[in-house]
Amino acid sequence: MSEASANAAPFRSLSVKFFRFTSLLVLWIVIVILAYDINQGNFNPSKGLLLCTVVLMVSWAIARFTIKQLIKPIRLLQIGMEEVGRGNLERIKFAKTGDEIEFLGKSFNGMIERLIETQTRLVQQHEELEQKVHERTQALEEAMQKAMEASGAKSEFLANMSHELRTPMNGLLGMIELSLDAPASAEQEEQLETAQRCALSLLALVNDVLDLSKIESGKMALEKISFPLANQLEDTLKGHELKARQKGVLLDWKFAPSMPDEVVGDPLRLRQIVNNLVSNSIKFTDEGAIEVRVAAFKGTDPTKWNVELHVIDTGAGIPQDKIATIFEKFTQADGSISRRYGGTGLGLAITERLVDLHNGSISAESELGLGSKFSVLLEYDVAVAPVVVLAPVETESKGSEGSTSHSKDNAGIVLLVEDNIVNQKVVMAVLKKRGYEIDLASNGEEALVKLEQRSYAVVLMDVQMPVLDGLETTRRMRLEERWKDIPVIAMTAHAMNGDKEKCLAAGMNAYISKPVHSAHLLATIEAYTSRPVKKLTAAPVDDLMKPFLSRANDGLAQLRKSLDNTDLATLEEQVGYLLQAAEAISATGIVECAKRVEIAVAAKNTDDVMHSLLLLEGEIALLNQQAVVTSYHAG
Ligand code: ADP
Repeated sequence: MSEASANAAPFRSLSVKFFRFTSLLVLWIVIVILAYDINQGNFNPSKGLLLCTVVLMVSWAIARFTIKQLIKPIRLLQIGMEEVGRGNLERIKFAKTGDEIEFLGKSFNGMIERLIETQTRLVQQHEELEQKVHERTQALEEAMQKAMEASGAKSEFLANMSHELRTPMNGLLGMIELSLDAPASAEQEEQLETAQRCALSLLALVNDVLDLSKIESGKMALEKISFPLANQLEDTLKGHELKARQKGVLLDWKFAPSMPDEVVGDPLRLRQIVNNLVSNSIKFTDEGAIEVRVAAFKGTDPTKWNVELHVIDTGAGIPQDKIATIFEKFTQADGSISRRYGGTGLGLAITERLVDLHNGSISAESELGLGSKFSVLLEYDVAVAPVVVLAPVETESKGSEGSTSHSKDNAGIVLLVEDNIVNQKVVMAVLKKRGYEIDLASNGEEALVKLEQRSYAVVLMDVQMPVLDGLETTRRMRLEERWKDIPVIAMTAHAMNGDKEKCLAAGMNAYISKPVHSAHLLATIEAYTSRPVKKLTAAPVDDLMKPFLSRANDGLAQLRKSLDNTDLATLEEQVGYLLQAAEAISATGIVECAKRVEIAVAAKNTDDVMHSLLLLEGEIALLNQQAVVTSYHAG
């Protein structure tokens, strides 16, 4: 019989069973006695009846006794157990029969006591646990609060540090730029160029630190641009060929045939990842070869490309116990080796975080003295159509939006509001060279006094100043009808997110971040003033002007195309030609801007490349305009 059907058997009380048993026993005895009497021939019905009655009463008495002694105590036990089953841990009542029933009852109550003890302990433990969880949560919340405060302090520190660093850098780069413009011996020029390179690499380091903090504070987002994957990689790698050749190391790359033509993602960040890995390999390899292998494949998601990249070198290698730490910031596997080769220990930390932003992974395998292999997996979106879409450019000026709304007689007069003497000198030198007349105010209050006295074409406003800062000064200016329309250009070393918005919200028209590039400064001022086109300091040779301009216009189109393709190598080459041609006809404005493009390309700062190209475009447009005016007058 199955358990289920056994369980389903109807409940039959022991008392019923006993009663049936004794009744059958009595019936059997009566039948035996009556059968004997019949057999003997002396059957007496009244004796039979009496006998039946007596025996029935005896069996009834036995049944009663059994019920009292056995069934009732068991029933008590049953009720107690049912109560426990319902969750009421209460001791049961039982008859003191001095037999198994009493023993069963005592054992049951003992069990209930232990259960009650366990339950009480459990409740206690639960309460303790709750208390602990509560305390831990509170501690965590406090720690979180502290971390948030620390992170806020870190951002502030970085903002200040970037300000503090960029202000002197502004002076330094500006002075170098001015000195390079002045006549100097070849030796002096070389020294100045070395100083400029050093200053630029310092700026690159500052940018690295800011990059890292930007990623860590979650403020770095990847662009989504359609770009040719293989071309982009090839260009990046070509940029390292010279350095590898100089070290006598072979640099080779192999792309799997499965590579897509285009992917959607951030080409600049891909370049940064590859640059970091390949430049490390070149740095740490003295002989042998560096091989870059790239393959792309689709995983379960058909809208994504997984790009796998390996950089393998035969260089110094990394000790096994250091491999895990090289991705930490400011960490170098071997201090002595790294000192020999230079570096800050930031490259791989930035690379790892960039890879994370790509939903990817990075790993390193290495054997000391034999070489290293870095493997990276990156995720890109599948390109829908092979169209190149350039991400929105963060422009720092509003173009001609705020231009030409005030009187013409103030056309060349600029109010410079700046407290730093070095910056004053740099900006004044740049503006004077361009023929501007400059009034100086070293804080906002002085600026308001100057504004009362004279009408200005434009105000160049530092943001952080003693007495009255640039933001407040601009706000006050905007409240006055007579100053409402004077263009205010912010010049600030604040390079953190949100500063531009703050300046614009205060009523400023444009924003230039320091270090201020002279060409950028001039172009921004000219975009906001009604100043007539001024003849360049060194007038271009007119006969050469037309052929130059047609070349420059073509060159510009090609430059734009290279930028669209984020092809910095070609861009550098093209700008080099333009620079030579511009120098040949002394088109100083164009020379200046082309040099800025070169510097930005060398620093691999596409934002700066874009800005400098815009300026270059402006200069060429200016020259085009001038050529038209000249030919008109000539005609
Ligand atoms: P940096 O190169 O500026 O020191 P990185 O973060 O790029 O900083 O690298 C950290 C460290 O990892 C290096 O100092 C070096 O010890 C080790 N390392 C990175 N790449 C290689 C490589 N290809 N071969 C040997 N060691 C390497």
